[in-house]
Amino acid sequence: MAPKRALRLYNTLGRRVEELRTHQPGKVGMYCCGPTVYEYQHIGNFRTYILEDVLRRALTALGYEVRHVMNVTDVGHLTDDADEGDDKMLQSARREGKSAWDIAAFYTEQFFRDSRALNILEPHVVARATNHIDEMIELIERLESAKLTYEANGNVFYDVAGFDRYGELALLDRQDLRAGARIDVDSSKRNPEDFGLWFTRSKFERQEMLWDSPWGRGYPGWHIECSAMAMKYLGETVDIHCGGIDHVPVHHTNEIAQSEGAIGLSSHSDRRWVSHWCHGEFLIIDSAKMSKSKGNLVRIDQLVEQGYEPLDYRYFVLGAHYRKQQNFTAASLEAARSARLNLVDRLASLASEVGEAGAVDEQLAGADGEAHPLYQEALELAASDLSMPRVLEVLWRLAKEASGPAVDLLAGAAAIDGILGLGLVEAARRTAAERDVAAGAPLDGEIRALVDQREKARQEGDYATADRIRDDLAARGVELQDTPEGVRWRQQASV
Ligand code: AMP
Ligand code: ZN
Repeated sequence: MAPKRALRLYNTLGRRVEELRTHQPGKVGMYCCGPTVYEYQHIGNFRTYILEDVLRRALTALGYEVRHVMNVTDVGHLTDDADEGDDKMLQSARREGKSAWDIAAFYTEQFFRDSRALNILEPHVVARATNHIDEMIELIERLESAKLTYEANGNVFYDVAGFDRYGELALLDRQDLRAGARIDVDSSKRNPEDFGLWFTRSKFERQEMLWDSPWGRGYPGWHIECSAMAMKYLGETVDIHCGGIDHVPVHHTNEIAQSEGAIGLSSHSDRRWVSHWCHGEFLIIDSAKMSKSKGNLVRIDQLVEQGYEPLDYRYFVLGAHYRKQQNFTAASLEAARSARLNLVDRLASLASEVGEAGAVDEQLAGADGEAHPLYQEALELAASDLSMPRVLEVLWRLAKEASGPAVDLLAGAAAIDGILGLGLVEAARRTAAERDVAAGAPLDGEIRALVDQREKARQEGDYATADRIRDDLAARGVELQDTPEGVRWRQQASV
């Protein structure tokens, strides 16, 4: 079935906003490069995962049926494409006195814990690289049959000279590449852009993760896993492929070379392996990219230690368009927190107007949030290259300015939040239920009478009676507080 409305999304391939064309009407196969699990993922990485989550939510809201696939890079891998650098999985294993397998399992778990805290929906398929070594070997064999590989110094390389579209995504100049080849210092590679598909020989003294292959016992290069897993779960036609902007020049460029090379697509065919490439810009901190190698990492659990909620960070991320760099500062996170709480507060008031905690759900279930004109406006903005800062503005308008029955406003907000994923309505329901109920707010008649009796006893100096009533109320879950403005009470809510 066709979607209600088409998504217009910037396509890195072609560098312009285009209407999404899917291979099957109304269905989207979406592949996202997942975490490398030898370390914690930092909040910069999570900016990209939040983008992917918002993309999935927007697609769903627009009426597409989404299949979301993500890999987990749990194979010890090289620093870069050259066969240089250290195996980071192994470095972590040594540092922490654990096996490479334990390290991968530990950081995978941390990644999903942080993702859940950020309301990131779990992909429909989470593919671990170590479970897909056979698929990678098969793909390398296909490339071998297509004469796109060569062996040198015990390792198998991709021969970029054999793939005529190499570098198109990154707008790499073929002339430059050939010029570069002449000054390449790596004697085992024919072109500087050639990259490892399978390593049997490396400079590492010890490699824990090794597998048998037609080329000998070894391990895969770090690009082949994404091609192999994307093709396994989404076939030879992927609708959207996502990742951070840093993946354009090398990782995604090499993924295209591998997949299109194996399928047999060349510059003469108008078919593409991936129709739409979506890349998120960087989160920067102190004017530098946040990255493991720069040592300027901030993690979600560190924000929590500082008293923030993970969703404050999600709110912060949604405040910038995904194609712009975003600067992370303490002040901007603080501003995001107070904006989010302010919104929750306003929605909590609407929830109280709708009724008691239990009734809110019932009322919301009976309301049609998608019918609200401001939801329709928000959906249109989401469909327009994921303009989340503007979707947030619409939500603010709905919460602060719009008029109408509270239940319709709340239902509209819930529908918009379905795209943003900020969990606002649940937070509002909790706040409404826990909030200090000031005098005049709904308390049941009998309790109200007891509060009044106690107040009278206090005014008459009968403190014994006043205290007895206070205890009686406490036993019924009502806590009293005497303030200069009069008595206030907090009713323990059944949420
Ligand atoms: P990695 O674990 O390094 O492979 O990165 C996981 C994802 O985060 C990839 O899609 C990267 O492109 C992305 N990424 C890495 N650093 C940043 C950053 N500073 N801001 C936004 N995304 C990033
Ligand atoms: Zn990837």
